Amino acid sequence: LHPEPTEVRSVIKDVVEMLKPLADTKALELVVDCDRAPATVYTDSLRLQQIVTNLLSNAIRYTKSGTIWLSCETLGDRQWLLAVKDTGIGIAPEEQSLVFDPFYRAENNEVHVPDSTGLGLAIVSQLVNLMQGKIELKSQLGVGSTFTVTWPLKIQA
Ligand code: ATP
Ligand code: MG
Repeated sequence: LHPEPTEVRSVIKDVVEMLKPLADTKALELVVDCDRAPATVYTDSLRLQQIVTNLLSNAIRYTKSGTIWLSCETLGDRQWLLAVKDTGIGIAPEEQSLVFDPFYRAENNEVHVPDSTGLGLAIVSQLVNLMQGKIELKSQLGVGSTFTVTWPLKIQA
């Protein structure tokens, strides 16, 4: 773990710029709202980037049409939150805790997206843990999903 002062908006901006072309191929709208985000957090910026990349690429992959929202905000005086919300295929209630298991792919994935290995969220969940955060999933089949991560503003090395 390499905690360092990290500019949240710039990490988000880099990931969005990298994945925007992919969202464009599906005509998905990408909305970023980080106005209420902390300017700087003390965290592992490379791992933060990895987490955002995984969550955002899932949102793009599992959404056929509509909008993906990426938002960040400060929570009280010790924490901050990052949320990735989509209008995608959604995940059934009984599978919502399983998607964080290695190699698990939900029923919704019957299309078997090429190259889907089921590892992304397992990695995300390990990294979030390592970074002293918590990840939460809210989802409804056919409506969409929201992954919310809460972290300390300053993580311990
Ligand atoms: P990869 O290893 O390439 O990320 P993956 O996307 O299948 O493969 P995970 O990212 O771990 O693996 O996701 C696990 C499963 O959870 C997916 O196969 C999919 O069924 C479901 N899933 C993940 N994110 C979403 C989402 N935003 N909307 C709907 N289903 C999702
Ligand atoms: Mg994935």
